[in-house]
Amino acid sequence: MTLQTLPAVSTTREPLFVAPAQPDDPFGIYIHIPFCAHICPYCDFNTYAGQSSRIPAYVEAVIRELAHWSDAFAGRRAASIFFGGGTPSQLAPEQIGAIIAASRAAFALAHDAEITIEANPNDLDERYCAALLQAGVGRLSIGAQTFDRRGLRVLGRLHEAEQTWGAVAAARAAGFDNLSLDLIYGWPGQSIEQWRRDLDTLLSGEPGGSRPDHLSLYGLIVEPGTPMADAVHRGILTPVDDDRSADFAELAARLLDEAGWRHYEIANWCASPEKASRHNAIYWRNGDYAGIGAGAHSHVVDRRTMNHPSPQRYIELLTAGRSSQSNSETIDARTAMSETMMLGLRLLQDGVDEDAFMRRHGVPLLEQFSQPIARLSEIGLVERIDDAIRLTARGALLANSACAEFL
Ligand code: SF4
Repeated sequence: MTLQTLPAVSTTREPLFVAPAQPDDPFGIYIHIPFCAHICPYCDFNTYAGQSSRIPAYVEAVIRELAHWSDAFAGRRAASIFFGGGTPSQLAPEQIGAIIAASRAAFALAHDAEITIEANPNDLDERYCAALLQAGVGRLSIGAQTFDRRGLRVLGRLHEAEQTWGAVAAARAAGFDNLSLDLIYGWPGQSIEQWRRDLDTLLSGEPGGSRPDHLSLYGLIVEPGTPMADAVHRGILTPVDDDRSADFAELAARLLDEAGWRHYEIANWCASPEKASRHNAIYWRNGDYAGIGAGAHSHVVDRRTMNHPSPQRYIELLTAGRSSQSNSETIDARTAMSETMMLGLRLLQDGVDEDAFMRRHGVPLLEQFSQPIARLSEIGLVERIDDAIRLTARGALLANSACAEFL
């Protein structure tokens, strides 16, 4: 099949996000908080336990770094702030508020900016949630992971399912109207029945008095070098194989679809369009963001930079008035286009828009990627709808292989 004969199927599509982003579009601010109460055995993020005494100096360093980025985004609006980690809920609400205030001082933050904090369930009570709202946070992303007691132990989590629902109830009581839950499926030993129970519990929302507004469901990947990989290597844990993991993903997609959720990104669902993650959409649209904090990455036009991963080194550098960056690279035009495809195809309903691609990259999408699109459409993994290229339902299950075609 050639590109010219690839049909533009006419369906009614309500776009949530147009990918790719344009150079003057609003950008995002990511704040990395690399502190955790303990390290979960599957975690390979840049995170540290037993270093909470560094938090005050770290917050000061983050505030300094924010000011350094001001010029790079002059004349542009910031659409979002996302506190990720690590465990951002290790910070006091006043510290979160001070970082938000410093972001407003450094950038033109939109009046309706989406401000999200990731939180562990056992950090959240009504008082803490109310103080977060007061500080300017409008969206909570709670790391539930599973409601199964054995699963929580396998994942090395310190909380119980009851605490997740207690956190949901506390956040609602405080006034949060934008709550997301993170769940992990495919943990060693998990059965499809256990996963179905998690989904049923989630969809009933009963234990916390309400359903969340947004869901992120991640298939567990046992990363090399983690304690979990070591346990698998020694035969203590048996990982879920790819076929079973695909069954889990299909079950989630079906049950959530039946319950009326919108599957807008490979791992993300929203209860209504306005609850889709606007910050993460900046990444999927291959847009720009300032990554603040130890190990954080930034993307500004054709430059990618990375900060020193060590919190101690990060604090030292910023306290001395020096740059916190350890690496930087220029993104060439071909790489930028590949990244647009690999990221934008994750947007299951919107895909990559041909007109937006042309405006961003100056090349027609169907010409630039004629061969991979033809190959993938022939085997039913991508389709062209409303002048956008997107993954089919089958393509979504094989997204990694499909996206790799655009490298
Ligand atoms: S709480 Fe999250 S960031 Fe911290 S160790 Fe566990 S998985 Fe990693």
